[in-house]
Amino acid sequence: MCLFCKIASKQIPSKMVFEDDDLFAFHDINPGAPTHVLVIPKAHISSMNDATPDHQALMGKLLLAGPRAAKIAGIDASGYRLVVNTGADAGQSVFHVHLHVLGGRPMAWPPG
Ligand code: 5GP
Ligand code: ZN
Repeated sequence: MCLFCKIASKQIPSKMVFEDDDLFAFHDINPGAPTHVLVIPKAHISSMNDATPDHQALMGKLLLAGPRAAKIAGIDASGYRLVVNTGADAGQSVFHVHLHVLGGRPMAWPPG
């Protein structure tokens, strides 16, 4: 079981934002913005490179969880950034797909 599988199954504690049958959302342990929530599918998918057409509905649900987490965190009106780092150049450090929901301050573009 990977780190985020353990978080989703509550073997490792986290500050939960919401949970449903397919997804688990929690606060990042090392926030990169005043609000930094991670949303993960409960099913283990290592990276977006491993997502298949079978995951289409789940990936749609994951993306739609971005505004859901933003609303709970109170940053839906002020704005937020949704990020899915994929692979080495993007700096992916945990190989279980996760959607970063970042907000609470103005952000620069382009990132990196
Ligand atoms: P990545 O770099 O893979 O896109 O993002 C991984 C994120 O997971 C990082 O922002 C990191 O701070 C966060 N993270 C790593 N380990 C833990 C942990 O044990 N608990 C929580 N809540 N976040 C973690
Ligand atoms: Zn996993």
